[in-house]
Amino acid sequence: MESTKILLKESELPRAWYNIAADLPSLPPPPLHPGTKKPIGPDDLAPLFPMGVILQEVSQERWIEIPEEVLEIYRLWRPSPLIRARRLEKALGTPAKIYFKYEGVSPAGSHKPNTAIAQAYYNKKEGVKRITTETGAGQWGSALSLACNFFGLECKVYMVRISYNQKPFRRSMMQTWGATVLPSPSPETAAGRKILAENPDSPGSLGIAISEAVEEAVQRKDTKYSLGSVLNHVLLHQTVIGIEAKKQFEVTGDFPDVIIGCVGGGSNFAGIAFPFLQDKINGKDIKVIAVEPTSCPTLTRGPYAYDFGDTAQLTPLVAMHTLGHTFIPAPIHAGGLRYHGVAPMVSHVLNLGLIEARAYNQLDCFDAAVKFSQLEGIVPAPETAHAIKAMIDEALKAKEEGKEKTILFNFSGHGHFDMASYDAYFAKKLTNYALPQAEIDKALKIIKNYPKP
Ligand SMILES: *Cc1c(COP(=O)(O)O)cnc(C)c1O
Repeated sequence: MESTKILLKESELPRAWYNIAADLPSLPPPPLHPGTKKPIGPDDLAPLFPMGVILQEVSQERWIEIPEEVLEIYRLWRPSPLIRARRLEKALGTPAKIYFKYEGVSPAGSHKPNTAIAQAYYNKKEGVKRITTETGAGQWGSALSLACNFFGLECKVYMVRISYNQKPFRRSMMQTWGATVLPSPSPETAAGRKILAENPDSPGSLGIAISEAVEEAVQRKDTKYSLGSVLNHVLLHQTVIGIEAKKQFEVTGDFPDVIIGCVGGGSNFAGIAFPFLQDKINGKDIKVIAVEPTSCPTLTRGPYAYDFGDTAQLTPLVAMHTLGHTFIPAPIHAGGLRYHGVAPMVSHVLNLGLIEARAYNQLDCFDAAVKFSQLEGIVPAPETAHAIKAMIDEALKAKEEGKEKTILFNFSGHGHFDMASYDAYFAKKLTNYALPQAEIDKALKIIKNYPKP
């Protein structure tokens, strides 16, 4: 009998992360200092991040060793299973083989601990005592709380106030792992106090929460800041997903023709795709698809430009596809896909033609997610639903063409904390939303005075 779950032994856990910078024909333009607009160096980032992480950010080494202390914690749930969606294949009547890498097995329920654990480790090693961060829906906050708990670090999470009030269980989870969670804007920081003075009932935003977390980290010697997506080192840590998947395909004897991931900041997509892009760069024919929501169409419609990572313009300027740092996304339910920019490295591989991007609206994604759950059991996070929609489209295309393709998608996380969005879907309260061109023109206006990449 052919396997449905392809499981690796713990001893087969990858020993190194894959750094795509070593294999690309060109590198993305460097980040620029927000004031001088000159390329930044490692020292500029030192107030925010530990040096171990900063050196990974700029590294061009192909393989970067995973520390034993990180592997020891990865072993609690890794290697994650590669699962063949046989029941879905049958229901679709497709000749395609559908595989997914299931990252929902982590304690936080998503891929995010892959980088949270690594970042907490480097902070601990360099004597940092506390880490601050922001969280929207709570997925990143949970992952970092878990990681800080394991390494005996204090964790302070600025949680967007509206989510803080609407998603009490993500907050309880962070508290279970010992984190302090504050609604943002908060009276603890100058940035928070300024917003509260103007609007005491501010619902908050990711941009505001980042400003608060960064402000506190910069002001305290014992404190650093941690980001859950977008940056090179985050993408690097996530490549453990794709490296494992490659080993799992060696077991099945298949190799993916199509690889799919959903994109918020780009980390889970990069995690599954980059190790396979190495093969593509070396001549293999692989179609790699990044999927985003039509309401936040960064890769498909956003210009490629230098822009800030946050609303308050505290971060360096980075070259990326962007909807502008003042972008306020429509309240769609895939909270993790609502960031205004996309990782510079993902933007760069799109520009190089190594990947393609497409956007789907949320109703089609929920339709696909429910179909998937009824056949394969697992209830996906609304973010993952975007990858599932693209996967079903590719499987149906293979059927039309009568081609026996192998499709791989990243199942970035389960939806157990997102059932309110499923409730809204069943109650027919969800609507589709395509970003009006006027919003994109606004972004163009904002960035037009910045340096051009
Ligand atoms: C955060 C999140 C995403 C989006 O973030 P990326 O950095 O683009 O991966 C996708 N899926 C899940 C389940 C998430 O928690």
